[in-house]
Amino acid sequence: MTATASGQTRTVAGSWIDGAVSGADGRPHPVVNPATGSVVAHVAMATTAEVDRAVGAARAALREWSRAAPVERAGVLGKLAELMAANADLFIAEEVSQTGKPVRLATEFDLPGSIDNVAFFAGAARRLEGKAAAEYSADHTSSIRREALGVVATITPWNYPLQMAVWKVIPALAAGCTVVIKPAEITPLTTLTLAHLAAEAGLPAGALNVVTGAGTDVGAALAGHPGVDVVTFTGSTAVGRKVMAAAAVHGHRAQLELGGKAPFVVFADADLDAAVQGAVAGSLINTGQDCTAATRAIVARELYDDFVAGVAEVMGKVVVGDPHDPDTDLGPLISTAHRDKVAGMVARAPGQGGRIVTGGSVPDLPGSFYAPTLIADVDENSEVYRDEIFGPVLTVRSFTDDDDALRQANDTEYGLAASAWTRDVYRAQRASREIDAGCVWINDHIPIISEMPHGGVGASGFGKDMSDYSFEEYLTIKHVMSDITGVADKDWHRTIFTKR
Ligand code: NAD
Repeated sequence: MTATASGQTRTVAGSWIDGAVSGADGRPHPVVNPATGSVVAHVAMATTAEVDRAVGAARAALREWSRAAPVERAGVLGKLAELMAANADLFIAEEVSQTGKPVRLATEFDLPGSIDNVAFFAGAARRLEGKAAAEYSADHTSSIRREALGVVATITPWNYPLQMAVWKVIPALAAGCTVVIKPAEITPLTTLTLAHLAAEAGLPAGALNVVTGAGTDVGAALAGHPGVDVVTFTGSTAVGRKVMAAAAVHGHRAQLELGGKAPFVVFADADLDAAVQGAVAGSLINTGQDCTAATRAIVARELYDDFVAGVAEVMGKVVVGDPHDPDTDLGPLISTAHRDKVAGMVARAPGQGGRIVTGGSVPDLPGSFYAPTLIADVDENSEVYRDEIFGPVLTVRSFTDDDDALRQANDTEYGLAASAWTRDVYRAQRASREIDAGCVWINDHIPIISEMPHGGVGASGFGKDMSDYSFEEYLTIKHVMSDITGVADKDWHRTIFTKR
């Protein structure tokens, strides 16, 4: 199965279960390039029977994979990282074709970030943390075992299909878990390629399975499957809560990475040029379809007019067009349905107090494009200010003093990411403490690194992706307590029965 950069290839493929393609002759679902509307591949939708089979294969593979020495698991993941680099062109072509993201973003962000994550967890597989073994009681030696949690069910969204798959699948495999992943039905290609390459890297059959299909049947069947041990999810807050409810029926653990509405706070002493550039980059990355994207600029009154004019000017220079062209900055939204949703929210903004400074229009291009948009003077209760838009839209409000800025930053149910722009170290430290979010950037917005965690609070979910913290999500803690006296008549038995 391949999709070329030209978007012309048409192939039929299916799920990947127990080391083989499954159901390729089943119900084909088109994968559409949102820049052109053309079909780049067909991938068969899985049945719930295939979900059962995939979970069964993961369960069967668990014993061998979880007992492989850490160095063996590290070896397979290290080889996978090498194979991903060797297949860079295929990954990039598939990611660009199925999402419409600019080829520069896929080449410089999605793929290298994914490979680095795989390499990081190849190392993490060999670094199990725990308390020192010791005689915490005089009569016993206690030690900690870190063991694989079991079979992991993973459900991922369409915005960064490869990175989201890697963030969930790879730490789980590093920990010795086995996985069944369901990518979004509109963007399954790179997740399937990842699974094929993992098999080539030496991953045993069944350790990583991919079931393709819609959320309402395949996703729901996986989230509520009695045969899994934990459900990890990246997607919208509404669906995440359904997934958690399905997992709770069986008492399964859930880890949720959900929506965001990141504040971008510009204090009066900020470097204005840096803040303007940062706001445009932070709001337009991946056409704004980024859970950490800057969406609510909150700007000191003194800088407000210059900030609005600066952002409008830089947005006006952004090149919108063919995502396969390396000179393109902004690709289409994922679908025309999503474009219409974004356009509807922006169109309603003026009626709710917002002033569209630039954008707010559909460019004259085939595909689901939307112009970079800046909405100033937004009301705190307006839809564009409160709800996740997931498009190339930045809203702006002013603030009066630092307390007001931090209050506005936290005036959201979400808490995934935020940034504060200031040259004052005290302000920076105060903002990083006071803003309720999983990540606070100072004088930047967006960068992520494999060594550091990603994950939110509040309606943005809980649990971490990336870093050693994510690795911990897939490991259990077992206490082993060994008697070292060899005495049958133990002191503590007196609390239960008198000595014979
Ligand atoms: P979505 O919630 O609509 O879908 C996510 C996944 O869930 C898809 O695979 C979908 O098929 C599946 N799904 C849908 N209904 C289901 C159900 N009832 N049971 C089980 N699975 C079901 O999200 P989306 O539109 O694909 O992605 C955009 C959302 O993802 C945004 O809200 C964005 O903020 C969020 N996101 C969050 C992070 C993060 O790390 N916090 C990262 C990327 C995207």
